[in-house]
Amino acid sequence: MISAGLGLCRATGLHRLAGGALRGRGAILTFHRVRPAENRLFAPNAQLEITPEFLDRVLTRLHANGFEIVSLNEAAARLIEDDRLRAPFAALTFDDGFRDVVVHGLPVLERHEAPFTCYVAPAYADRTARLWWVELEEAVRRLDRIELDFDGARLSLPARSDAEKCAAFARLYRLWRRGGNERLLRQIARLREHAGIDWRELVDELCLDWIELLALAAHPLATIGSHTLTHPRLALLAEADALAEMAQGRDRLELELGRPCRHFAYPYGDARSAGPREFDYAGRLGFATAVTTRPGMIFPDHAAHPRALPRLSVNGLWQDAASFDALLSGAPFAFWNRGRRLDID
Ligand SMILES: [Zn+2]
Repeated sequence: MISAGLGLCRATGLHRLAGGALRGRGAILTFHRVRPAENRLFAPNAQLEITPEFLDRVLTRLHANGFEIVSLNEAAARLIEDDRLRAPFAALTFDDGFRDVVVHGLPVLERHEAPFTCYVAPAYADRTARLWWVELEEAVRRLDRIELDFDGARLSLPARSDAEKCAAFARLYRLWRRGGNERLLRQIARLREHAGIDWRELVDELCLDWIELLALAAHPLATIGSHTLTHPRLALLAEADALAEMAQGRDRLELELGRPCRHFAYPYGDARSAGPREFDYAGRLGFATAVTTRPGMIFPDHAAHPRALPRLSVNGLWQDAASFDALLSGAPFAFWNRGRRLDID
């Protein structure tokens, strides 16, 4: 739907007619990884990464579109302030604490003097949580055929060509997203062992450790936000477990980094991973803001719902300035949300 809206905007220029009406008070942008392009045909997680060159272009386009890049603390303040004459704000957020954000993204952010937030799950820094979507990608890349038991049935998927690998990944991803955290981790572990992949090596290679996080937290442009302790889908957990994930993730960051942690991002962040129950927990735990991955711009109505904020995903599959300009107009989201500005249930 967003792609359709984006395509329509790009083809017709319709979003330009909307002026500033649909872009609201501003936007919170979602990023994950930043690294040079690899040009692989089988790249099923490509939507989660952009190149440093595109990050540079995004920051330039934000400026050209009249957005002011602010920290999350400043965005939280602007959420409740009623000043229509102000330029719209943009807050930049990077999920999961990937090392390439520091290696390839930070120099670009510094050049633009752009404040940003990294949402970190301490278990990645501890090397005790798994990047299951990267494990799945690596396993499918290495294996020629995927064999596993699924709900009592034997699943056998060819994975020799790039097209077969893409199809196998998509099929498995869809199957697992329907089930619980545990099954997903258990079955991917079996595939990974089969493919001879060391999960800890992957986390070690890709995620920031505590020493690097300490340095990042001290950077004048950086804010560290919380992303639970182990990155589960909170909506699937019992109340006590979900609250513990959210509280312990934050407490651990505050202890290790020695500074208060006021902002939170729900892992996965879609409506099936975080809903009104989790929004309430974030409020109970005292977070100033909490972000989802539900798509949308920030409107004055969000002032009453600072723990159910939508974000604008800067998608690796749409790395061109025209798409990004259309995204910033808010028009594709008006299309997706059928004109509804608040998506909080
Ligand atoms: Zn995440």
